[in-house]
Amino acid sequence: MKRFPFRSYLAVAVAVLLVSSCSKDEVTEFFVQTELQPYFDSFVEEALLRGKPLDMTKVNGVIDDIEGTQVLGRCEQASESGNYVTVDAAFWSKATHWEKEYVIFHELGHCVLDRRHLENQNPDGTCVSMMQSGTSDCRMTYNAQTRSKYLDELFK
Ligand SMILES: [Zn+2]
Repeated sequence: MKRFPFRSYLAVAVAVLLVSSCSKDEVTEFFVQTELQPYFDSFVEEALLRGKPLDMTKVNGVIDDIEGTQVLGRCEQASESGNYVTVDAAFWSKATHWEKEYVIFHELGHCVLDRRHLENQNPDGTCVSMMQSGTSDCRMTYNAQTRSKYLDELFK
């Protein structure tokens, strides 16, 4: 007598679990890791300040190990599962605020603004754009003084 109701209770519990995990998947299909969220928010804010509203609903952001020591961030573009920004975990653990923002904004430049690399340099040798790949000769300094100039170029 005891077994039967217990089993049916279990079946209901499993069914509820399946349903709730399905709907949960739908809600969290696109996600941004907590540590990255302030940078994603700031990206949207800066774009809006420059008259460019952005749709960030299909952009995922994670911190993970990226193979290859030179690669600090990556943008993968996929139609159905959205675009993925990955920031290298080793870089993240020792990067400054400006280094983090630079890498995240650069990757969002690919993933959200659909921008390609731009290697041009100013007469003084500094990079024209924060969309430079890091493989050219231009000098990149991203900080409180240069930030707004680079963001103007990024969202132009
Ligand atoms: Zn890039």
